[in-house]
Amino acid sequence: MTTTTTTSTRGSIPSVNPATGETIGVTELNTVADLNNAVSAAHKVQPAWEAAGYKERRRHLLLVRDYIVENAESLAEIISRDTGKTKIDALSTEVMSAAMAISYYAAHAVGILKRKRLSGGSLLTFNKRSYVDRVPAGVVGIISPWNYPFAIPFHEVAMALITGNAVILKVASQTLMVGKAIQAAIAAGNFPPGLFSLINLPGTVAGNAFLESGINKLFFTGSVAVGKLLMAKAAERLIPVSLELGGNDAMIVCRDANLQRAVNGALWAGISNAGQSCAAVERIYVEEPVYEAFVVLLKEKMQGLKQGADQNCDVDVGAMTTKEQMKKVQDQLRDAKSKGARIFANPPSSGLNPAGLFIPPTIVEGATDDMLLMREEIFGPVLGVASVKDVDEAVRKANASTLGLTASVWSRNKKKAHAIAARLEVGSVMINDHLMSHGLAETPWGGFKESGIGRTHGYLGLEEMTQPRVVVDDMLPGMQKNMWWYPHSRKVFDGLLGGLDVLYAKRLTKRLAGIFKLVPVFLRSFQK
Ligand code: NAD
Repeated sequence: MTTTTTTSTRGSIPSVNPATGETIGVTELNTVADLNNAVSAAHKVQPAWEAAGYKERRRHLLLVRDYIVENAESLAEIISRDTGKTKIDALSTEVMSAAMAISYYAAHAVGILKRKRLSGGSLLTFNKRSYVDRVPAGVVGIISPWNYPFAIPFHEVAMALITGNAVILKVASQTLMVGKAIQAAIAAGNFPPGLFSLINLPGTVAGNAFLESGINKLFFTGSVAVGKLLMAKAAERLIPVSLELGGNDAMIVCRDANLQRAVNGALWAGISNAGQSCAAVERIYVEEPVYEAFVVLLKEKMQGLKQGADQNCDVDVGAMTTKEQMKKVQDQLRDAKSKGARIFANPPSSGLNPAGLFIPPTIVEGATDDMLLMREEIFGPVLGVASVKDVDEAVRKANASTLGLTASVWSRNKKKAHAIAARLEVGSVMINDHLMSHGLAETPWGGFKESGIGRTHGYLGLEEMTQPRVVVDDMLPGMQKNMWWYPHSRKVFDGLLGGLDVLYAKRLTKRLAGIFKLVPVFLRSFQK
């Protein structure tokens, strides 16, 4: 059973389909007291869940995957209506991603986090044998954003549960209907009561409340500004945080790229989810010799895209999820125009619902470094394209950002592409693709610079859900004391110096002399 604590309600939030303006539900908010109760309940149940072992935990999680697979179509529908994204976006990047994540973590966590035996580090401590166990963090808090409201929390919930943690989840207030869908999916796992709780709190309340509730670790995905606030607050209690923040991703198109693939990839990774992806293609740097051809093809292919409210998988591009985001993108476009950019926007698709939050797919040609859309994250269906002299200029511009989430390199020459990847200051580089690695459960996800701290997904994500506990064992029961234990004397000091010489002295004679000093002190270890 999944528990959601709703002892008292202080208000409710309506959910609106941003593609049609229609109200699709109302959700009651929780209180801080609900959160605190949920955390207490989670602490009570977590030790037994940890002790249950991987096999039992996997059994529950796979029930959730079965539920997702059986209800994939209706889940895609709910996500589409709550966010304005298309149903194919919802299915491919959210529902499928969640099912694949559960499968991967359920199958691999036990191997990835198994006891790790360490080989000895020095002859002087030859009698020590050590190993590292991964211990669950305890009760983890997860705060997630509205742009991938199903897949982002699901990866983390699955990683947390399989590794033996209890979970308190807060989804974004803009996508509370998806939160309910997550709750229903988790309920299908028949987890022990109190192990998972969904708590609906406004963001303004959630930060302090989560960090004061007694959680052991916080996983936050969202904006840089809120990430910084949370980290400062977490520092007061030294609560570890994992922060997955914004991106301003560059796509580097080399002169030898397959331009058809590059254009198709730019459109999908820049425009899907109405461009509201942390790792969307935002800045495209194209080598001069192929710039014109790239832009012509990009415009041609973009014109074929149909935008609107998804009825039956009949549109390519959906709506923006929030009015605030829409306004921000419009401001960034106005700024680019005022600085001389050539803006090419798709004409509105026929039958576009006037109540919907639509920004047409847009190309900003001749984008320059001073334009906001090239300097800041742009969360809309907008592609800034610039011509560069060569790859060096492209790499320099790609790295000239305070953010470093992901980037991509497009070239037919794999050796060259890998060499360029090695110069990019980002957490993930994709070659001849972009954005989709978030859906690969096996690849760690996270950014350099202000794009975040820590990693989620993959083996590093599983490790982040746990703490390492080292156990060091003594293998020589006959030894009564270590060489440096009491009583101290000059002879002990010289013996230890001798030990250093034996191992590391440059001259052989010094090494040999070291043996004579070390041996008596070593033998002393066997005396009472
Ligand atoms: P946001 O920071 O406004 O909100 C994210 C979540 O935090 C929401 O649940 C929100 O309710 C909550 N929140 C807001 N203020 C809070 C506070 N003071 N304390 C605690 N919680 C608070 O971000 P957003 O607008 O929902 O999401 C868009 C941002 O998220 C973009 O910058 C995007 O790049 C980033 N993002 C990053 C990744 C990644 O994996 N790196 C993935 C998706 C989105």
